[in-house]
Amino acid sequence: MENLNQLKNLLSTPKDIVIFSHRNPDGDALGSSLGLAHFLLAQHHSVKIILPSEYPNYLNWMVGVEDIVIYDLIPEHAKLVIEKADIFFCLDFNSLDRIDKCGDLMMKQSAPKVVIDHHLFPENFADFILSDTTASSTSELIFDFIHLLDQSKYLVPATADALYVGIVSDTGSFLYNTSSKVFRITATLLDRGVDDVSIQNRLHNNLEIKQLKIIGHCLNKRLEILEEYATALVTITKEDYAEFDIQRGDTEGIVNMLMRIQNIKVAVLITEQPTIVKLSMRSKGDFSVQEIATKHFKGGGHKNASGAASFIGLKSTVRKFKELLPLYAEQLSQN
Ligand code: 5GP
Ligand code: MN
Repeated sequence: MENLNQLKNLLSTPKDIVIFSHRNPDGDALGSSLGLAHFLLAQHHSVKIILPSEYPNYLNWMVGVEDIVIYDLIPEHAKLVIEKADIFFCLDFNSLDRIDKCGDLMMKQSAPKVVIDHHLFPENFADFILSDTTASSTSELIFDFIHLLDQSKYLVPATADALYVGIVSDTGSFLYNTSSKVFRITATLLDRGVDDVSIQNRLHNNLEIKQLKIIGHCLNKRLEILEEYATALVTITKEDYAEFDIQRGDTEGIVNMLMRIQNIKVAVLITEQPTIVKLSMRSKGDFSVQEIATKHFKGGGHKNASGAASFIGLKSTVRKFKELLPLYAEQLSQN
């Protein structure tokens, strides 16, 4: 990070700090935000996390979630918090549209802005940027940031737990995006007291029966294999949402599950939500779903995990996606 000393100076006296993370926050959005928040709170800063939309239930046990401000629920309060901030941190996203209206509200403020993120192609809106697209997770970068500041004595247990959640989440429990560095950081977090088995149990062995039935329905009735393009596709309609009482977070993990099918190179989950259609994509190896998300749906993410919103309805979105595949036939048919 350039100008690190300037940021160190800013953080050397107590400040009002706002941390933003992205809409539909996942384990890394929450893990990096809470990890940084507890680290800053330990240094007597005043810290508020603001998220555009609610976090999924499976993360509701994390220390400090009850203090998170959800813009969708209390926009006026969020606005006041934003106007009071001395410093903004933007975690696990790098384009302002990922925080909806909060982006405009933040950009109206002159307070310095810090981006810590691992997504491709960062927008240039911040004063301080720690961007590493090779990092497993933003949580890994928060760990780096704490060490860059030379403040590992404030890596408190709540920070260690939160960063562990973020790393587990963005590596699919150490299945992908791993590196020797990820394992070294994880070992340090365990040395700091993280109970890995208990956290993994909370994250993975905690499904409601209803959630398993949703997965069952999706795999049984909504799965299409487009063999020619080594692609697996699940589509969830708004009728499915109603019939199975599908809530935020209930569909997480389905797209990763599709990657477990033999010979599949691309997996896509397309969900019909109240105002948008959401695409969630995964790939293996060199095939970039980031390119599909960015070029054709104005979304983004990583080479092997990307997402986007579509505004043309479910059927047209599915058709559009399928019509794109022939463009990539050569790459997808290679063994
Ligand atoms: P997921 O499929 O788990 O929702 O997201 C996979 C990756 O794509 C994440 O890194 C996420 O930040 C990114 N992503 C998901 N949805 C969008 C979107 O609508 N726009 C952009 N730019 N990135 C997205
Ligand atoms: Mn992430």
